[in-house]
Amino acid sequence: MFVNTKEMLVKAREEHYMVIGAQCWSLNTAQALINTATELNMPLILMLWEGAPEPMADLEVIANFVKVHAGKTHVPIALHLDHAHNIDTIYQAIHAGFSSVMFDGSELPFDENVAATCEVVKMAHACGVTVEAELGHVGGMSGVAAGDDNNSTLTVPEEARKFVELTGVDSLAVSIGTVHGVYAGEPHIDMERLKKIYNEVDVPLVLHGGSGTGIELLQETMQYGISKLNVMTDLMNATSVAVSDGSFLPDLDIYAAVADCVKGYMEPLTKPMLK
Ligand SMILES: [Zn+2]
Repeated sequence: MFVNTKEMLVKAREEHYMVIGAQCWSLNTAQALINTATELNMPLILMLWEGAPEPMADLEVIANFVKVHAGKTHVPIALHLDHAHNIDTIYQAIHAGFSSVMFDGSELPFDENVAATCEVVKMAHACGVTVEAELGHVGGMSGVAAGDDNNSTLTVPEEARKFVELTGVDSLAVSIGTVHGVYAGEPHIDMERLKKIYNEVDVPLVLHGGSGTGIELLQETMQYGISKLNVMTDLMNATSVAVSDGSFLPDLDIYAAVADCVKGYMEPLTKPMLK
């Protein structure tokens, strides 16, 4: 079932579980993810980043592929454009058939982030597409160890409330200590900050930089409104290991590695659908 991210995330927030936003970088990855969600009887969000390489650069190809395969399963599957900085890319994704988009204005001043996010929300909602935005900035880069200079700025709870009221976004990515890529040391999650944001904001919250955070900490965050968890680095690392261990069938090995890795997140964090 091909859906947007609205209902699945509202339900996840109410029932204190997370839907995994898994990055896909090939049709093979997308297929492995959809099949895993079906096997586990759980909702899933497939994500593609702005500027992904061929063949994923053709947003229509990936949207059509995901729609066809999502249409064959009973579990909710959404296709989400991750970290778009460019409103043109968001327009292209909506036109291609994506059901959910993220506008990332997290490095803009508050007012500019609000203004640009409002524009995206207006366009996306007119097309039935859901919108995630980010306030505060989750720093670091995928696949790269984040040091003290990871340029994160933490989300201010009071600003988060204002931002959601002014923009009408469907979900909000918050910065509470996770980083993109690999942690330089132990993750330090500001749980008190998250609790305050949860009390101020009534839309589902999104945690970027899920890889390496640890399941116990993640389970704690889902008690305080985190309803979507983005995972990329661990998926990519798992596939690198699978193809570097002397395999002769890299496509099949990638498929299995993606399925195993995403299961490691979905099983303890997502709730199965009622049968
Ligand atoms: Zn991210």
